[in-house]
Amino acid sequence: MADLFEHVVNLCKRRGFVFPSAEIYGGFRSTYDYGPVGVLLLRNVQEAWWRSMVQLRDDVVGLDAAILSPPQIWEASGHLQNFTDPLVDCRNCKERFRLDKLEDPDTCPSCGKQGTFTEARQFNLMFKTFAGPVEGAGAEVYLRPETAQGMFTQFKNVLDTSRKKPPFGIAQVGKSFRNEITPGNFVFRTREFIQMEMEFFVPPAEAPAWFAYWCQERYRWNVDLGIPEDQLQLRPHDPDELSHYSSATSDVEFLFPWGWDELEGIANRGDFDLTQHSKHSGEKLEYFDQAANERYTPHVIEPAAGATRTMMAFLMSAYTEDEVGGEARTVLKLHPRLAPYKVAVLPLSKKETLTPLAREVLALLQPHMLCDYDETQSIGKRYRRQDEIGTPWCVTVDFDSLDDRAVTIRDRDSLEQVRIPIDSLVGELRGRLES
Ligand code: ATP
Repeated sequence: MADLFEHVVNLCKRRGFVFPSAEIYGGFRSTYDYGPVGVLLLRNVQEAWWRSMVQLRDDVVGLDAAILSPPQIWEASGHLQNFTDPLVDCRNCKERFRLDKLEDPDTCPSCGKQGTFTEARQFNLMFKTFAGPVEGAGAEVYLRPETAQGMFTQFKNVLDTSRKKPPFGIAQVGKSFRNEITPGNFVFRTREFIQMEMEFFVPPAEAPAWFAYWCQERYRWNVDLGIPEDQLQLRPHDPDELSHYSSATSDVEFLFPWGWDELEGIANRGDFDLTQHSKHSGEKLEYFDQAANERYTPHVIEPAAGATRTMMAFLMSAYTEDEVGGEARTVLKLHPRLAPYKVAVLPLSKKETLTPLAREVLALLQPHMLCDYDETQSIGKRYRRQDEIGTPWCVTVDFDSLDDRAVTIRDRDSLEQVRIPIDSLVGELRGRLES
């Protein structure tokens, strides 16, 4: 669809998914706040990830590590040294760019002049701040640029307390911060974002097989939640693209309006991280396999996804314009698990006689799923609004409901309407949600 990007960004603002941060002060470049429906969608993305990575498995446990971290961690991980992007300035218009993301490294995409770039400088992407009342040397701390290091530094504590042994994983969802040179494309690249990462610790000989397994799993997760396969691909990195720690990496890529781009990276990190932290901390980060009477440093397979970026891909692929009864409608065909509200309760009219029963239906459903309630405007307009925020089912309470204690369920995608007794509503909707 032409202009898909603009359509989605406009819808996000209009319906309360995503607002520019600090908008009343003129905005703060490339930071965003998630509004009443956006916060629900974003949480659902994270919960769907947690469900598949932690809840439905017995070989992965969770972690929630601190965001503020001492320089020693980033020294050991290599981030102080290597977590840099090549930065160039245009001498003509003064704009800054990431050299590796320029289509033509000689032409400024902002002013169009050629040969105006400065020499590339390496720019470290970590945000630095100070802990305690004294600024300066010795008080520096960093905002984590990835969640992964928490899993490595807590490897031993998790191993000692969780009764897991390799192959097993530690999963974490949380904020990360990168001082990106060129943030942009809406929430695709921001300086503050949410990551969903899992470190899977395996016996070294099993690493290649687990790498292949996690590539397939993570691809499948996106498909199962509704991304069409022609908009999704697994792309193995070329050898010269690989990070300093990785022997193999594949990206799960989505076909964004500007082309294929990364949603998630799956990397075989070998024993790099545990070895580094072991060297720098003096703590042994190994596993002793009693059966084989053998001590080894596990290798690590890491699927690392972005929640905010993935949310954007779900929005893009769900955005649909179709026609209902000769009228154009916009509908977000989000997977029900991701939809902000699972159901909207709509009394047919605002007449007071309908309100008590509609509120009774709402109270019946609320303990089981997130519900919206709306009684103003025509029923057509209210359906339209629910379609635009992706609500899979609307439950309409009408005047007959007062006599027969039955309501109508309208399906967002098929538009099919069925009438069912209020008593079976919870069972019916839960069944649909779980199917
Ligand atoms: P890129 O090449 O796009 O800068 P990356 O390869 O450095 O990303 P990783 O370090 O592998 O990214 O991070 C894992 C995931 O975290 C990415 O696939 C992406 O979904 C998410 N992510 C990384 N940086 C950002 C950002 N600035 N804004 C939003 N999400 C991000």
